[in-house]
Amino acid sequence: MPSWIQQSASRGILTSRYPKDAAADEEVSPTGRPPLPVAGVASLPAARDSCPVGAISDTAVDQGKCIRCARCVAAGLTFTGPVEAATRSRDDLLRISSGPVPSPAAPPPLARLGRSLHLFLVDVGSCNACNLEVLALANPYYDVQRLGLFFTNSPRHADVLLVVGVPTPEMAEPLRRAYEALPGPKAVVAVGACPISGGAFAGAPGLVPGLAEIVPVDVFVPGCPPSPTAILDAILKLNGRDRAARGGP
Ligand code: SF4
Ligand code: SF4
Repeated sequence: MPSWIQQSASRGILTSRYPKDAAADEEVSPTGRPPLPVAGVASLPAARDSCPVGAISDTAVDQGKCIRCARCVAAGLTFTGPVEAATRSRDDLLRISSGPVPSPAAPPPLARLGRSLHLFLVDVGSCNACNLEVLALANPYYDVQRLGLFFTNSPRHADVLLVVGVPTPEMAEPLRRAYEALPGPKAVVAVGACPISGGAFAGAPGLVPGLAEIVPVDVFVPGCPPSPTAILDAILKLNGRDRAARGGP
């Protein structure tokens, strides 16, 4: 028997069992940056001036703006949040710095589609890091096909538009057309700080301040970049199969 077959057999199955089981440590922070600065909220006023993107106010960290640069750590904040950081409203990205956000009363937008969702990825101007984290979902470790999730090359075959990067006015019309090409019911996921708020580029000339100004956004995934597990949680929120809906913590 070839040695590589013996090695594979001796390792056993390495595919993640998320969301059935909680995320393993390596799923929470593959980029070396834990997901959310939630502890140290009392230090917010002191940390405010350290933030290069204006994400910190006296009462909250705006996770939709935070680019995980960790400058606020020296001022007393610590990254200790859960991997499931995606929210279904932009406002909730300000609330999660002080505790878990209650589940929305509205049903998941794609619950009618059942288990299987087809995903179409659009890059409107990313640094490529969010792209890589999204595409990691198709590798054997995350293996999202086991959850009924499939990438497709055409918006006409998709249920979900995953958008990465900072939207520009030039990309607004192609993005709108891609959205209109999806058959309904459909949903949009903003992946990373760039499409949510402009991220590191917020306030720069020639940018649209947020994806929600172009197409309706159903789920916001904070991070720069978010981990594949955080993105997976966001997608599963669309059909109500995420860990919280399964009764996980
Ligand atoms: S980690 Fe986030 S909140 Fe802290 S300074 Fe950087 S951008 Fe601001
Ligand atoms: S959110 Fe961060 S990692 Fe993602 S595309 Fe923007 S700059 Fe890159």
